[in-house]
Amino acid sequence: MAGPVDYAYVENLREKLRQYNDAYYDKDAPLVDDYTYDQMLRELERLEAAHPEWADPESPTRIVGGRALSTFSKVSHEVRMESLQDVFSIEELRAFLTKTSADTPIEWVVEHKIDGLSVALEYRDGVFYRGATRGDGTTGEDVSANLLTMSSIPKRLAEDPPSRLIVRGEVFMSDRSFTSLNESQEELGQKLFANPRNAAAGSLRQLDPKVTSGRDLSLFCFNVQLVEGRKFATHLESLEFLAANGFPVIPVSDAVIDIEAVISAVEAIGAERGRLSYGIDGAVVKANSLAVRETLGSTSKFPRWAAAYKFSPEQQETRIRDIIVQVGRSGKITPLAVLEPVTVAGSTISRATLHNEDFIEEKDIRVGDSVIIQKAGDVIPEVVRVQTDKRPAEAVPYAMPQVCPACGSVVIRREGEAASYCTGANCPAQRLRRLIHFASRDCMNIEGLGPANLRVLVEKGYIQSLGDLYRLPEHASELERLPGWGKRSVTKLLEAVEGSKKNPLERVLTALGIPQIGTAAARVLAKAFPDIWALAEAEADMLQTLPDIGATSAQSIRAFFDSPDNLSVLREFAQFGVNLTSDTYGSGEAQEELPWSDLRFVVTGTLESMSREEAEAKIRSLGAAAQSQVSAKTSFVVVGAKAGSKATKAAALGIPTLDEAAFLDALQNPATLSAREI
Ligand SMILES: [Zn+2]
Repeated sequence: MAGPVDYAYVENLREKLRQYNDAYYDKDAPLVDDYTYDQMLRELERLEAAHPEWADPESPTRIVGGRALSTFSKVSHEVRMESLQDVFSIEELRAFLTKTSADTPIEWVVEHKIDGLSVALEYRDGVFYRGATRGDGTTGEDVSANLLTMSSIPKRLAEDPPSRLIVRGEVFMSDRSFTSLNESQEELGQKLFANPRNAAAGSLRQLDPKVTSGRDLSLFCFNVQLVEGRKFATHLESLEFLAANGFPVIPVSDAVIDIEAVISAVEAIGAERGRLSYGIDGAVVKANSLAVRETLGSTSKFPRWAAAYKFSPEQQETRIRDIIVQVGRSGKITPLAVLEPVTVAGSTISRATLHNEDFIEEKDIRVGDSVIIQKAGDVIPEVVRVQTDKRPAEAVPYAMPQVCPACGSVVIRREGEAASYCTGANCPAQRLRRLIHFASRDCMNIEGLGPANLRVLVEKGYIQSLGDLYRLPEHASELERLPGWGKRSVTKLLEAVEGSKKNPLERVLTALGIPQIGTAAARVLAKAFPDIWALAEAEADMLQTLPDIGATSAQSIRAFFDSPDNLSVLREFAQFGVNLTSDTYGSGEAQEELPWSDLRFVVTGTLESMSREEAEAKIRSLGAAAQSQVSAKTSFVVVGAKAGSKATKAAALGIPTLDEAAFLDALQNPATLSAREI
């Protein structure tokens, strides 16, 4: 250790850690490795604990600048983060208000009940100290680093702040941000979020704050949990104080005493809720006077001075004019009902999602049908049921289109999935995602062509099809003038594009994004065919005789090469000199060298760390077969949360199961699995 351990030493340590944080977090260029950083941070924590007189609310130990954490630390809430008693009808609400104000009239305020994630933000001497999730109300998780990425959270309060302040708020995601997050998740082939609430929770509980900072989270504060060195008489006064200090504050009504006026305010929120830019699941009524709150106190579960009125999802009847399909960025074909416009919860609805072919079939939804629709927590309304008694005589069962409306390529359903997908390599609806996949490391591995640059190239019109990638040299001088590109990076990029032409055939096959065909299957195909043209001619029956190629894969390969569009992409590749010839042709069975080549897996239930498709892709990439049904021949069943009949069947057949942890472990060390169990 250099020099004596004194205040100057500690300050020096803090200064260094701040620099490292800046470099890592803001400039994305780490100055030290994680281990060294952690050691220094730990030393600082130790010194601060031993010398409370050296404490600094802005110390890097308090405000983590953005390092990825391995786990969240626990926070005990000094003031319990209570939940509210729910009321589900106006009668119940009226009864609550009447009973509570039976002795003395009470001033009430009404607020939106945001459907998000509750957090407590603590400030010491006017500086952000810590932010934690609600957890079970008593203990939450320290998510300070993630909260600090949100620009709406004040890092410092105005002059003359209270010595301590704990504010409660709700972190949420607006409908618009939710939609665009899911679009980009789809583009990158990542899991979609079910609704804005899940998206907000998933974004806030990220171990890497960089992920959180890329998510558009919002905040509304709605309560002062604790304040030292200042006094408030009413709730409204405390909210005014929060607003003056830069906190985004929940929309709130004036204080009213008349119970019917309170009820009108609640109903008014219900009537306009469909027009808000964010989801609310109710309205909260609270006593305004903090003294009254004190007197009323809490039961063991809830405060007696507040209640949450929960809106039931509003349903409306309307008629289906037409059923159309939308092509997502992953090529997924989603059917939508075009409705006679109808007002639901204050907003006009003219579309409803029909999810997929199975959903339509199960509910037997037809064009011309009268249907009940509702808008619940989700952004897009859905069809609840068909009024079959009102069905017009000419209505016929709906059939999904056989070809993609965006590009005309064949539409297929993947094994075990309800969704349908377009197979076109040049489908304009999925252009960007196709390009990202094509250039990615496991595919053509073109350095410098990541999602951000590809997005620019597509937006500027330089790339419309996969073939256009190899036309980029024609635009070299224009590319150099793009903001932030420059001659050197363009030269490097074009070299990488040129270099990718020499990639082995298996990489090209993976890069084309043929549904079901990952790295392992591409390797099999490259060994079975001398070049891509021979593969393009192969019959489905022949393809199915190859290892790791099942009926669905064979059908998918056929559909791909049957598309004239896809063939013209390949002809372009040939003209540009992209290698389409196999250098492994005839070199024996593909999977000999793969560790799991004699294993068969079934994945069931929900895995935390990846989707089922991702898990199956990993299984296949190690040479094993991923099956949809458990049979006596199954080697292992990977059992996630909420696993159903397949797990039961595995137990009945005595087939070994792997929980998620064991599965992840096996992926890391594939050899241990076959050696141990087989
Ligand atoms: Zn298409």
